[in-house]
Amino acid sequence: MPELAEVEYFRKRWDSGLGQRVREIALHGEKRIFRGSDPAEIERTLRGATLRSSETHGKQMLFRFSKNAWLGLHLGMTGKLRVEPAGFEPGRHDHLVLFQRKQALVFADARMFGRVRFHHGKSAPAWWAKLPPAVTSPQFTTARLREIFLRRRTAPLKALLLAQDVFPGVGNWMADEILWQARLDPRISAAQLDAKQTREVWRAARMVCRVALKTIGVDWSDPPGDWLMLQRWKKGGRCPRDGKLLQRATIAGRTTAWCPNCQPSHRKTG
Ligand SMILES: [Zn+2]
Repeated sequence: MPELAEVEYFRKRWDSGLGQRVREIALHGEKRIFRGSDPAEIERTLRGATLRSSETHGKQMLFRFSKNAWLGLHLGMTGKLRVEPAGFEPGRHDHLVLFQRKQALVFADARMFGRVRFHHGKSAPAWWAKLPPAVTSPQFTTARLREIFLRRRTAPLKALLLAQDVFPGVGNWMADEILWQARLDPRISAAQLDAKQTREVWRAARMVCRVALKTIGVDWSDPPGDWLMLQRWKKGGRCPRDGKLLQRATIAGRTTAWCPNCQPSHRKTG
């Protein structure tokens, strides 16, 4: 499932269409990725509109067009953005295609857990304005995290890291990476954290998001070789710090990998 850095990578695929008009549109309006929006309105408004800019927030993308048109895209589990030549014939999973003079901007989604949203108005849609602070933003403070941890005292840390209203854009591998970087057991609850450990979660979350955006988010390159991420996919993956065999379990409904040595369930802090 795409997490914030992968989403950022896909958003940039459409950059070659910036400043260019949409001449024609092909869409599969009956597909569920258009739930809650009006495909006819999307076609009518986007035809003749120019792509002005785009932005990523967590797992959400927003494309701004002229004619006060806004296109929100969510990749779900299998969504992808790509660019094809102008004469391209859409395939069965290419649910939204914007044809420009030089190229076609394609949104494909085989399993259709993704979503297309449309908004017509002078400012960004309300759902966009209401998104929680990005992990890399100045609004994402330790005070905010402390307050959330006080309210959700009993949830395992892994579940909190996957909560999109707290850590927007963080998914399964990033959550494991953050916990490994912060040296915290994924099963412990927020109530078990002292102030110093909460600060560690905050620091690790910002670092992992920032570095992932600079590597995967730019050109799909790997994050640093000493991260957990590169080991957690492997059968028999080992901790990059101490070579201990990674432990695995399903936590908060997701396969979780951690190092029993670096991330002990009971840790003395001083
Ligand atoms: Zn370790």
